[in-house]
Amino acid sequence: MENYKQILINHGIKPTFQRIKILEYLDKNKNHPTVDMIYSSLYPKVPTLSKTTVYNTLQIMQKRGLVSIMSSIDTESRFDYNYDFHHHFICRNCGKINDIYIDCNLKEKLIAEGHQVDEAHGSFYGVCRDCLKTIS
Ligand code: ZN
Ligand code: MN
Repeated sequence: MENYKQILINHGIKPTFQRIKILEYLDKNKNHPTVDMIYSSLYPKVPTLSKTTVYNTLQIMQKRGLVSIMSSIDTESRFDYNYDFHHHFICRNCGKINDIYIDCNLKEKLIAEGHQVDEAHGSFYGVCRDCLKTIS
């Protein structure tokens, strides 16, 4: 709890109880959640929470570099609390978004060409191994 408070302060975000709970959720779940997913999970424990608060908190967190918004997964924005350089594997069957770490020098190539890269989103689509087991 103290740790999450400090992370928020370090990013220039006022550490309210609700924001601390949202950050805790992001850290413990790493499931690239939507606003709704965070809200429905936290609401029973934090009844003062509203969807607007979740949405606004994520907007602030994105501006301060604490989360990134994943593009073009589905209609709702999904938020990623993992700033390590990584790609995603998205299962078309269960919808799970897995962080994957593969050798990829595309970022270095762009930098070598003189560009500045702040963010990268590489997405692979298919059926995950858990789903493959249940299908076959
Ligand atoms: Zn799956
Ligand atoms: Mn991710």
